[in-house]
Amino acid sequence: MNGPGRRRAILRAMPNLSLHDLPLDHAYAALGDSYHARVHPASLSDARLLHFNADAAALIGLPPAAAQDPRFLDVMAGNAELPGGDYLASLYAGHQFGQWVPQLGDGRAMLVAAVGSPGGGSWELQLKGAGQTPFSRFADGRAVLRSSIREYLCSEAMHHLGIPTTRALSLVGSAEPVRRETLETAAVVCRMAPSFVRFGHFEVFYYRNQHDQLRPLADHVIQRHFPQLWDRPDRYRAWLTEVCERTARLMAGWQTVGFCHGVMNTDNMSILGLTLDYGPYGFMDGFESGHICNHSDEGGRYAYDQQPRIGHWNVSRLVQATLPLLHEDPEAAVEIGTAILEAYGLAYGQDVVQRWRAKIGLREHRDGDEQLINRFLTLLHQGRSDFTRSFRHLSRIRAADTGPATGVREEILAQEAFDAWVEDYRARLRAEGSDDAARAAAMNAVNPKYVLRNHLAQHCIERAEAGDSSEIGRLMDLLARPFDEQPESEAYAAEPPPEARHISVSCSS
Ligand code: AMP
Ligand code: MG
Repeated sequence: MNGPGRRRAILRAMPNLSLHDLPLDHAYAALGDSYHARVHPASLSDARLLHFNADAAALIGLPPAAAQDPRFLDVMAGNAELPGGDYLASLYAGHQFGQWVPQLGDGRAMLVAAVGSPGGGSWELQLKGAGQTPFSRFADGRAVLRSSIREYLCSEAMHHLGIPTTRALSLVGSAEPVRRETLETAAVVCRMAPSFVRFGHFEVFYYRNQHDQLRPLADHVIQRHFPQLWDRPDRYRAWLTEVCERTARLMAGWQTVGFCHGVMNTDNMSILGLTLDYGPYGFMDGFESGHICNHSDEGGRYAYDQQPRIGHWNVSRLVQATLPLLHEDPEAAVEIGTAILEAYGLAYGQDVVQRWRAKIGLREHRDGDEQLINRFLTLLHQGRSDFTRSFRHLSRIRAADTGPATGVREEILAQEAFDAWVEDYRARLRAEGSDDAARAAAMNAVNPKYVLRNHLAQHCIERAEAGDSSEIGRLMDLLARPFDEQPESEAYAAEPPPEARHISVSCSS
């Protein structure tokens, strides 16, 4: 039986399984004290389970009924420790906005344990916002409800868009006051990932000149997460090459759904190539190639069109930090490292073109395709047309038609440029004998109808802050099927109303 099938069978067999019954392991803890600090969650007043994600729960063999067990809420809130858990905050550092910061670490996230997955592999459970750790510096170890809802919703939305990401198991709200610009309340998200190791976990030991610490960490990551590379004589080279490729493909995924991360510091980069640490991120509404979603990013270092370049800069920092693993002779190590980094550009170039091509419904590769794609993006940019809606509507174009593409051009603000483009686009479709219906179906499977627009998240947050958390479930259900027409939810596919176009999102969380 395959993974999901086996998982379903186990769930049927054990409908009363609770979080407390799951088999735990502690491979990260076993790395030793130099990699983490032991911690305990702080208590949370008036904790309430605002959402339980049955979809993520199934990954660890947890049935929906598990959320009814009062002990589940206690653990997810940090009001009780999971028996057998080994709570720890991990040590890392990173480059923030290009500047080296020698020590960061989990200042408000705690690893509970890894849980074996019925489908194979394992998932680490991490509580974000459960209180201070030795790495909190002067901060409170908490996360506000607003930012927790944003992380909870978006990580799941990304997953259902097919983009690698951390997952989220539960969202707990509370009456615990937290001071930010104003007084807010604390929340705790339980995140799940096979590993939360970041590029910064390696950087910290490289720059501290503790190079002996690099190998055990790299071996831990490879053994558990890249087992197919373990026996290779060039293990570290093969592993870093794959991290470069995964990061490149992640960037291609972000670019082609119009997602801006906002804080691509090396401490927010996952060694597994997952989208990690959702802060002031945003899906673009109107397309602007230099869009900056984080209003603290004054120089636009992490603007939309910079993301692929920054991805390369970040993998370069990782490769630099792991040079001691590549060769004992520093010059030879640099040579190998330079060769490894070439994988990034190759993987990005291939993947992004293939994704854009799929978005405009091209089956075959032909000369001029990239120009056709770039012309479309340019005219979206010129009119600041809605990114998601524009691509979604393209599937309505018929290859044999002539003249303006009614029903599509209304979405586009640079209409004359669009009319000219459509002529060339139709000719290109005819050249590969494209079938309208088949193409529309394929395009609608890659161009989402629904994304987590800022104004949708904002509306959900405002309602939850006023005590009504029902919109969280509503959005979770909607965004679990982003490619499906959901006629009852048509309004969620609309552009933001004018007053909500410029919601600005800060780093404060
Ligand atoms: P972030 O901007 O969320 O990626 O966080 C950058 C660093 O600051 C990480 O080391 C976080 O753990 C830490 N941090 C952010 N917010 C808090 C907080 N409220 N309490 C403690 N540490 C925090
Ligand atoms: Mg972070």
